Amino acid sequence: AKQNPEQAEFKQAVEEVLGSLRPVIERDEEKYRKQAILERLTTPDRQILFRVAWVDDAGQTQVNNAYRVQFNNAIGPYKGGLRLHPSVDLSIIKFLGFEQIFKNALTGLPIGGGKGGCDFDPKGKSDREIMAFCQSFMTELAKYIGADMDVPAGDIGTGAREIGYLFGQYKRLKGVYEGVLTGKGLEYGGSLVRTEATGYGLLYLVDELLKDHAQSLRGKTVTVSGAGNVAIYAIKKAQELGAKVVTCSDSTGWVYDPAGIDVALLQEVKEVKRARLTEYVAKRASSKYYEGHGVWSVKTDIALPCATQNELHLADAKQLVENGVLAVAEGANMPTTLEATKYLQEHGVLFVPGKAANAGGVAVSALEMSQNSERLSWTFEQTDEKLKEIMQKIYQNIKQAAKEYGFEDDFVLGANIAGFKKVAAAMEAQGIY
Ligand code: NDP
Repeated sequence: AKQNPEQAEFKQAVEEVLGSLRPVIERDEEKYRKQAILERLTTPDRQILFRVAWVDDAGQTQVNNAYRVQFNNAIGPYKGGLRLHPSVDLSIIKFLGFEQIFKNALTGLPIGGGKGGCDFDPKGKSDREIMAFCQSFMTELAKYIGADMDVPAGDIGTGAREIGYLFGQYKRLKGVYEGVLTGKGLEYGGSLVRTEATGYGLLYLVDELLKDHAQSLRGKTVTVSGAGNVAIYAIKKAQELGAKVVTCSDSTGWVYDPAGIDVALLQEVKEVKRARLTEYVAKRASSKYYEGHGVWSVKTDIALPCATQNELHLADAKQLVENGVLAVAEGANMPTTLEATKYLQEHGVLFVPGKAANAGGVAVSALEMSQNSERLSWTFEQTDEKLKEIMQKIYQNIKQAAKEYGFEDDFVLGANIAGFKKVAAAMEAQGIY
């Protein structure tokens, strides 16, 4: 608490995890207390704060605040994305880095937890401005990362274009060609399926969850928030698996399309034109645009929050339950508030937290690291099949972990416990540090 006086998001993430670890800690209290395992787990190995100065198209020098938090490398090199959004601060980066430790452990792959970002807003910037920012950002960041040390990736505001400029600058500075970033373009070391991985992975996990409860996605109504990388591919895979997705949203408003979202049109508006959702509605007669927050008011079987943290509140949870929602799975990181999560779970909704449900992105990032190390590229089918297996295994592991402690179908507890046990065992084996 001394170190984090105002860090609301970080405290929220820690509270959620520590709350569910109680049964595990109680079984082995003396050992964990003696080793200060929770103190060490909640204190990052390293927090790097730095200035990024760059020149805009008007010749004006701009200054932004950047962060890289290297949280825990007990099971592998630090791994986690770089967020570019005006809201970025140390609390947000620490919450994301902390969550990443458990998520990465759940993938079953050798990756530790970290996260970074900057309060730079890529919206409305020219390509040259983005490049100038990325080059300046990497000039400092390059001192702390490396293919076997810390491997950043994309996140909100950091897509293929930004990763390209960041990679170019790293290569220029270090003179080495190594897999220091994931989410790279296919021409220079990127992996097939990485773009689709988080959204597809989310649906593979939901598919497994429903099968396990004698249900299926076929014929189900699904609501999705967001219209970015995660949301687009979640919508696409949900529709491929036979569901109808009727909403999407961005930071200004949301779309209701009872005929089912037209993914190709959404991709054109968001990925190609980088435009507002009003452009989608202008070209799609069956759809309607609403200002502000509202996706969760639509009647649905399955809700998939895929935009950002704290976007599904208690009032939304009540509305979803009243409308008979069956499952909620988080595509974004911590989109559901603690009160909303509790309400959904208490009302029998199958709830899967982001650290399990959206782990497909980082899983394929780790597969990108493997491909870079062996200097090979796998086919789409091979990689997609691996992603599917990983998501199915994650579901089975979190289910099993919850069951072992007597909390059947509490996937929040299951995910935290399964992730924690692996990391804690590695920390114990490596001695006190
Ligand atoms: P994108 O930048 O591609 O898309 C984010 C979407 O959410 C956009 O539609 C954006 O709207 C909306 N959004 C962003 N911030 C806000 C806000 N403050 N209020 C309302 N809407 C907002 O990001 P991603 O799709 O990559 O990431 C979405 C979430 O998924 C994040 O929580 C991220 O950490 C998480 N995640 C992403 C992974 C990935 O592989 N990309 C992996 C695992 C988790 P607008 O277009 O108006 O900005």
